[in-house]
Amino acid sequence: MSETIIGIDLGTTNSLAALVNEDGPEIIGPPEDPCMIPSLLSRNGSRWLVGEEAREHLIASPANSVYSVKRLMGRGFEELEEEIRELPYQVEEAQRKLVKIRIGEESFTPQELSSVILSRIKQKAETHLEKPFEKAVITVPAYFDDAQRQATRDAGKIAGLDVVRIINEPTAAAIAYGLDEKKQGYVAVYDLGGGTFDISILELKGKLFKVVATHGDTRLGGDDIDRVLVNLFQKSLLEQYPDLDLEDPSCRQVLRKTAEEVKIALSSSIETEYTLELPDKGISHKRILTAEELNLLLEPLLKRTFESCSKALSDAGLKKSDIEEVVLVGGSTLVPAVRKGVEAFFGRAPHVAIDPYKVVAIGAAIQGHLLAGGRRDFLLLDVVPLALGIETLGGTFSKVITANTSLPAEESEVFTTHVDQQTSIEINIYQGERELVQDCRSLGQFKLRGIPPMKAGFPLVEVSFKVDSNGLLTVSAFEKRSGTEAQIEVIPSHGLTQMEIDAIMEASFEHAVDDFNRRQLIEFQQSAERVFKGIELNWKVAEEVLSENQRLSIRKQMDVVKQTMTTDDAQILKAELDNLGDLTRPLADSAMGRAVLEELQQQNP
Ligand code: ADP
Ligand code: MG
Repeated sequence: MSETIIGIDLGTTNSLAALVNEDGPEIIGPPEDPCMIPSLLSRNGSRWLVGEEAREHLIASPANSVYSVKRLMGRGFEELEEEIRELPYQVEEAQRKLVKIRIGEESFTPQELSSVILSRIKQKAETHLEKPFEKAVITVPAYFDDAQRQATRDAGKIAGLDVVRIINEPTAAAIAYGLDEKKQGYVAVYDLGGGTFDISILELKGKLFKVVATHGDTRLGGDDIDRVLVNLFQKSLLEQYPDLDLEDPSCRQVLRKTAEEVKIALSSSIETEYTLELPDKGISHKRILTAEELNLLLEPLLKRTFESCSKALSDAGLKKSDIEEVVLVGGSTLVPAVRKGVEAFFGRAPHVAIDPYKVVAIGAAIQGHLLAGGRRDFLLLDVVPLALGIETLGGTFSKVITANTSLPAEESEVFTTHVDQQTSIEINIYQGERELVQDCRSLGQFKLRGIPPMKAGFPLVEVSFKVDSNGLLTVSAFEKRSGTEAQIEVIPSHGLTQMEIDAIMEASFEHAVDDFNRRQLIEFQQSAERVFKGIELNWKVAEEVLSENQRLSIRKQMDVVKQTMTTDDAQILKAELDNLGDLTRPLADSAMGRAVLEELQQQNP
């Protein structure tokens, strides 16, 4: 194997590292402990707390905590005046008009602070890779000037890294999608992160990317989306509790945290219920927010990003139609309205198959791999890697699209209801290879509402799965008798590396027998319930056509079945159900009882 050069996305909000290994590029570390940390620092005595562990300190001792260092990198005190006013930590003027950040008795350059984040990433990566390394490719925004790039290089050096190359974030994203293989054309990279928005227009010439225009807003990102939601929460709280002190720090913290949770929930669901818990005020405020309501609130923010896009295009002297590829970068592009807005603006579907959170680090890793003499012999996913489907009764997973179907793919299946007069159906979307949804990955959910009341088993709900060539999955549900419909868009393969996919596949073989039993058990339990229901409904008939003895044995056998239902042996349950079937056969065979049988057969599992 060639020498190890890792890729690092040193972000304003989050920083992460990736590497190309035999299975292709991926974030370093196992999914439960990836090399990915919030770009936060806090000083505790002479020790640094970094990432997640700094978060609590950020609230408890804001003066000793630092975030958004990237905004200060390589910049002079004078040009930062406005920026500094908004930061809670103290920024002071240092030699040569540079800045230092004061924490307690000490002060640090932005390079030193960034190096602490890089060191932590290096250390984490070395633990996971079980070997030391020095070489890294680090990414910076396309608009970074020489001083800012040099500052990033220096931060790497202080962290003990050999920065073999600094590359632009949008270039890294384009490389992650293999767009450099295309030889020529224009690529637009739309990056909406935690606190910043950047649009970059790249020109590809002979496998090399040149930045032809950038535009953006250093005060626009996921934090603003959170803020919009916090405002909404505040309004809603004040309506009910006019005297509430919203400035109370614990209250602000709860609102901010809930805002981010609600935002993330709405990127895979068309509505979500949230509760604002303020226990010290005795308040538990429960509400529902729909994705549609959020979209409306986000319109002004999105509009600002598209104004930037227009400016970048006109700076580059290009029309929208000149752009051949659009790439999404940044956690905030997971908001469906953002994705749809970009598609509408550029008039073409953006690349979304790689998690926009990770795409820059992945691209940097590929660049590192190529610099180390590696070949690009891994493929981007052009098939559905793991089956896609929905949850059906009893928590079973019904596959609609099977693994390895090539993209684009489209499949549909008809399902029905299990309860009489059911007027809504919840569609829970999963991805995986196991028989029960509890062993699969949840991708999203939505409700099909407004089905007119019908008997169980009567509605015909056609559920369609459509994955486009960019990997975007649209799931829609259509009730044929009434014409009601609903749909959602989600991205299935996000976050899954080839290694994880292989592991999931392997686990599905390992559990195949086990899973089959569990699934059968659930199915037999359901048919037992149906049989019981049928017997109870038609007990009157039984009283006429069966002897007392026959009825007694049926009752006894029902008890036996009930008992076996609680054990976990599907085969025994099946045997006892068959016995019950034998006992009820005379009833089913009678003229009146035939109706019972039909009733039972009509109900789909
Ligand atoms: P940066 O490049 O500034 O470091 P990131 O690309 O890491 O930022 O994006 C961080 C932002 O993404 C945060 O505001 C976070 O709340 C947001 N985010 C993360 N996941 C989701 C999601 N599923 N839906 C919407 N926003 C998300
Ligand atoms: Mg970023």
